[in-house]
Amino acid sequence: MMKKSVWLLIVLTCVAVAASAWAQTPSWHYPVKPLTLEDRSDFLALTTLESLISADYAPYHLVDLRLRKTGGDMQLRKEAAEALTRMFEAATEAGFTLYVKSAYRSYQTQKTMYENRLERYGRDDGVVAYPGSSEHQTGLAVDVLNYEWTQQDGMRPEFAKTPEARWMFDNCARFGFILRYMEDKQDITGIIYEPWHFRYVGDEVAAYIMDNHLSLEEFTTEYQQAIAAYEAAGGDFVLLCKRERELPPPLLLNEANAEGDSEVSLFYQEP
Ligand SMILES: [Zn+2]
Repeated sequence: MMKKSVWLLIVLTCVAVAASAWAQTPSWHYPVKPLTLEDRSDFLALTTLESLISADYAPYHLVDLRLRKTGGDMQLRKEAAEALTRMFEAATEAGFTLYVKSAYRSYQTQKTMYENRLERYGRDDGVVAYPGSSEHQTGLAVDVLNYEWTQQDGMRPEFAKTPEARWMFDNCARFGFILRYMEDKQDITGIIYEPWHFRYVGDEVAAYIMDNHLSLEEFTTEYQQAIAAYEAAGGDFVLLCKRERELPPPLLLNEANAEGDSEVSLFYQEP
């Protein structure tokens, strides 16, 4: 027969081992939510010469833009189109008039543009992106100008000096957009400074990227490192996202505040 104290020691050891195993599930410290980074909607997709879009890729749920524009029909993915509409409304309220210059482009359109440019100048001068490497093929990127620049042939970095460009730079993140090709990131993006080219990434990431003045390339490296660090510490990112998705549905409560106004509160029930 073992003594009581030995049993107690065994039980305590088991509890300690179990507790330490539990403690090994690391907590998530990166300031962007795991589910955002899991990116099921492809809002964070990096489209570059190193990660080309395939010729048969077509973004889902493209919708027509009902905004001032320089040409005929233009489309963006639904979420980006709605966000851009809100951005145009806010610009109008601030006293600025914006015009869409270019939105979604198919692989074929990009290919034709690229070949025309090549024919005209005899070389790839970097102005028109190689087919498959243009963000416009994702349906999440848009070129926006003011009236003055819609009247000019071509777009140049000097557009940045206009009040419209300044307003967009300062406010785009509020609508889920980032300035994709910043002046001081050209060596990272491989693309010239494009103060007119905005890319939809969603509110949370847009705020993080613009607050921290990052390129999408830098952000991608950063969050991939955060996921790798989480897994190196014993976490399972896929499982973490699965758990976050499986939070119980929010309870909808109708409450009245002191003034008698109806107020809707959302909160998660403790499991
Ligand atoms: Zn563009």
